[in-house]
Amino acid sequence: MSSGTSTTGNSSPAAGEANGDVPQVVGLIGDPVAHSLSPTFQQPAFDALGLHVRYELWPTPEGEIDERVERVRSGRALGANVTVPHKERVRARLDHLTPTAERAGAVNTLYRDDDGHLVGDNTDVIGFIAPLVARTFPLRGARVVVLGAGGAARGVIVGLLDSGVDAVLLVNRTLARAATLRDDLGDGRVQPLALEDLTAAATGAHLLVNATAVGWNADQSPAGPAVFAALATDALAYDLTYQDTAFLAAARAAGVATLDGLEMLVQQGAASFARWTGQAAPLDVMLAAAQAERARRAAASAGH
Ligand code: NAP
Repeated sequence: MSSGTSTTGNSSPAAGEANGDVPQVVGLIGDPVAHSLSPTFQQPAFDALGLHVRYELWPTPEGEIDERVERVRSGRALGANVTVPHKERVRARLDHLTPTAERAGAVNTLYRDDDGHLVGDNTDVIGFIAPLVARTFPLRGARVVVLGAGGAARGVIVGLLDSGVDAVLLVNRTLARAATLRDDLGDGRVQPLALEDLTAAATGAHLLVNATAVGWNADQSPAGPAVFAALATDALAYDLTYQDTAFLAAARAAGVATLDGLEMLVQQGAASFARWTGQAAPLDVMLAAAQAERARRAAASAGH
């Protein structure tokens, strides 16, 4: 039985399928999902470990979430990833949430526990923090500015708070959304601020995170030169967008170190992979595949 519509972008059939041996599946639930990089690094990871699993794309409009989750629950799926716009709404359809997903109020991974219950986790939290830990970035006591208060910002802020930062200055176009996020997290270190307060918030900050969706607009940055100039010496500008952005270009122009979102994407995927399979993900395989696909897409769009 199939667990959903397969529109896998990259797949040759998994090994054994030609012999009538049906693979297990994992899928990405969202709307839209066609642009996602996830299949391009998850499939090589399953293949590298010899696992007979196929990563599929499951485009799911709002009105079909219940049916989709039921198919994951009752079918042969190992689990799923969840992306925009369902990370918050999917919670109510699950048997439990991990404490991390509960705190973040957002789910990006579904998996089955040992009792067969469908569990929601948020691996964006570890995905965001892991690249900072790999760089021994000093988070304890740090002053951090987070731009954006959407689903991704929730995971980012949980990770920052758990890492012992001193303050999260949460700047969002819609101030009320930042205030709601602060209230949901119930942590006095989170201070909601309006966009006009961004330069003041950035003054002396050690880390500036772009968790807005603006990165996908090639020429638009949510922060201007004055913001980068105000950061502490040795600050880092971290954009969750997994391509080069105007935000990162402006940081470089101001002499600020940068990090884009590709490693985060791979690290959250690696944590999801471990949930689905019970095995450590082959990180090097995943990162190399994601980098290659990003370069391929950049070359293809430059050619147009
Ligand atoms: P979301 O829930 O739709 O939130 C979007 C955020 O961007 C909101 O804070 C929104 O502000 C802000 N925004 C949108 N357009 C804006 C504009 N023109 N000016 C200022 N602010 C604007 O999206 P999300 O799930 O949080 O994702 C945010 C970004 O993170 C996306 O680029 C996504 O691709 C990326 N992401 C990356 C990873 C990774 O692994 N690297 C993982 C998750 C997400 P309002 O509240 O005012 O609308």
